[in-house]
Amino acid sequence: MKKAINIRIFGRIQGVGFRPFIYRIADKYSLNGWVLNTNQGVTLEAEGTEEALNSFSMDLRSELPAAARIDDFLTAEIPFRGFSDFRILPSMDISDEITEICPDIPVCEDCLRDIGQQERRKGYGLVNCAHCGPRFSIIKALPYDRANTSMDEFPMCPECKAEYEDILDRRFHAQPVACNACGPKYRLWVKGELVSDDMEIITSVASEVITGGGIIAIKGTGGFHLACNAFNPEAVSNLRLNKQRESKPFAVMFRDSWSLRKHAWVNEAEETALNSWSRPIVLLEQKQSSDDIKPLAKELNDGLGTIGVMLPYMPLHYLLFRKLHSDAIVLTSGNISDEPIITSNQEARASFPGIDAGIDHEREIVNRLDDSVTRVLLGKLRTYRRSRGFVPESICLNMDVDGILAFGAELVNCFGIGTKKSAILSQHIGDLKNQPTFDFYKESMSRFMDLFRVSPGLFVHDLHPEYLSTRYAKDLLTGHASAGILAVQHHHAHVASCMAEHGLDEPVIGIAMDGTGLGTDGHIWGSEFLVCDLNSFERLCHFDYLPLPGGDQAVKEPWRTAVAALHYAGIEKTGFSGLAGLGIVGEEKIRIIQEMLVNNFNCPLSSGAGRYFDAVSALLGLCLHAGYEGEAPMKLEAIADNSVKLEYRFTIGETIDFRNVFTMIMAELSAGKSPGYISACFHNTVISAIFETAIRISRERKIVKVVLSGGMFQNRIILEGLAPRMERAGLEMYIHEKVPPNDGGIALGQLAIASAWREKNER
Ligand SMILES: [Zn+2]
Ligand SMILES: [Zn+2]
Repeated sequence: MKKAINIRIFGRIQGVGFRPFIYRIADKYSLNGWVLNTNQGVTLEAEGTEEALNSFSMDLRSELPAAARIDDFLTAEIPFRGFSDFRILPSMDISDEITEICPDIPVCEDCLRDIGQQERRKGYGLVNCAHCGPRFSIIKALPYDRANTSMDEFPMCPECKAEYEDILDRRFHAQPVACNACGPKYRLWVKGELVSDDMEIITSVASEVITGGGIIAIKGTGGFHLACNAFNPEAVSNLRLNKQRESKPFAVMFRDSWSLRKHAWVNEAEETALNSWSRPIVLLEQKQSSDDIKPLAKELNDGLGTIGVMLPYMPLHYLLFRKLHSDAIVLTSGNISDEPIITSNQEARASFPGIDAGIDHEREIVNRLDDSVTRVLLGKLRTYRRSRGFVPESICLNMDVDGILAFGAELVNCFGIGTKKSAILSQHIGDLKNQPTFDFYKESMSRFMDLFRVSPGLFVHDLHPEYLSTRYAKDLLTGHASAGILAVQHHHAHVASCMAEHGLDEPVIGIAMDGTGLGTDGHIWGSEFLVCDLNSFERLCHFDYLPLPGGDQAVKEPWRTAVAALHYAGIEKTGFSGLAGLGIVGEEKIRIIQEMLVNNFNCPLSSGAGRYFDAVSALLGLCLHAGYEGEAPMKLEAIADNSVKLEYRFTIGETIDFRNVFTMIMAELSAGKSPGYISACFHNTVISAIFETAIRISRERKIVKVVLSGGMFQNRIILEGLAPRMERAGLEMYIHEKVPPNDGGIALGQLAIASAWREKNER
């Protein structure tokens, strides 16, 4: 007795070989019927015995291609119609189908096996199939077929073409399909000379270089990496010189989970994240070194206690580890200090004259991508840098953002475009003040508009008139005469970004804690307690303003903010020589800053929470000069003694007054309390200040939804301290998951606010 079923599947199913996958399972169980793509997903009808249909449904879910994700799976029994075969039907609406581009996917198990066994792919480093391999990084235009990718230069050999055309083959319609005979090749360069394109030789030499303490450039999916032995302190220091990066932590790639566990604590959620198809960098708690395990070089992440790790994702990574004796290599973006990651072979050879060897490949990188950075906090994966493996997957919203172009912030830029009810956020762009990064921004923006066929009708930018993103919005407007333009306050955008992720549009308590953003009063904000919806906000409270001697210079030199914080607390003392932090700076420099403060000379006011962390970090001697964004707060978080539950007294009025906190810190430093103790007390104080202010606003305004955003909420102690207290008090806490809490998430908030504004003003 044969039956018929209709199945509708929703989720991430575009660009991952999903329909052929269904076809092959239908074939396996001799089912008849059809499958087709629709706007929202895939629909199919299948006919066969009840047993076969059950097995079919089971396999669909259990043997899913790695990058596919099923959000919804709806089955209904329908009348039997008696199809004679199983077919893939043309898509219902091609124009909608093409808006989906899959992020790049790590090599699959089957392809890894092919490298060892299949004659044409023995050692082939750029092997891929319909379930794995490059996607976004090689796409020039849509629709997604080979002619529109950087694989267009490599005509398929007859064997690859046969696989490509055989629906029962795993490489059916795999656009980048290639083999040793027809595909792009890896090449080894030593001192500017091409040495070999033989994979055996390439991996052997690379392994020798790394083992010998050298540095090697390796072309990856979205750009070049620089690699060296993660256990070799001199090699790591040398890598810093080549990158001109003094102190920012380096990411490490481990051979496998097993070797990783010797060096870092990994819980279940972290293990899942490390092995997920996005293969992000995951920040983990580093283990204390022990006698029987060789330690990682401390130059990797000096003073942080956390380490960014990832597992292999390209075939070359696996081939390299087969030859390497070391279990871990540094694998850091191949760029010079703040510039974008290098993608061109020529530029890579010119940019790093000091390194020992380079491996590139002939496949051009069209869209540049850094490795994404994530951390598991409160049991869930949080994204801090959203790039490879995530972009350009759209974020579904419950509002219409069609045709809105969001320009993002300036320092940690990412822009966004809206199509219908989806936000497509760009990959991490970086600091626009760097000219090559700004060029990358402009290029990517124009490519996104092309790819996703968006002709913007509304531009939305930050309130700060001097941000390069703001200026660019105004420049670009001249070419889009009919478009509107809207400025959005930075912290309102932060909160709106988190609201959009969670589908909130009612009034909420929004708490935005970060370093810098222009406020409506002309001062620098960054510890904001708002009551807001997507249309407007009210600022109810903030940390006291601190003067920043020298403005931006104080951000780079946290010791200046430390002196300012003492001035704020009424401590005008001299004689810091006994102190770890200011003692090193020297009396003369401190005196100049004190004079600036007394005369209020070039001391703009800032309520940035990051500045408070800077000040304490500098007072404890952890970070006097910041080598990278967030160094001082990260070092302060790292040393906190979690067993300390005490806190300092503060007062909440119109603002939150922390003067006593600095008085207490100075007293405890003099009394010889440890930095770990003081850091913990300070963190506990900030947690209480945030919590008590939230409670106060909640009672006043009868709002229980509390939305947190801003880079400070990347701090584990703060989040883990706040969550249980909020819950016990009946407050509902919302935090970011898919979008970074830092300025990388601003564009989503801008899109949401612009959508609400348009809704209100144009209808
Ligand atoms: Zn594969
Ligand atoms: Zn081939």
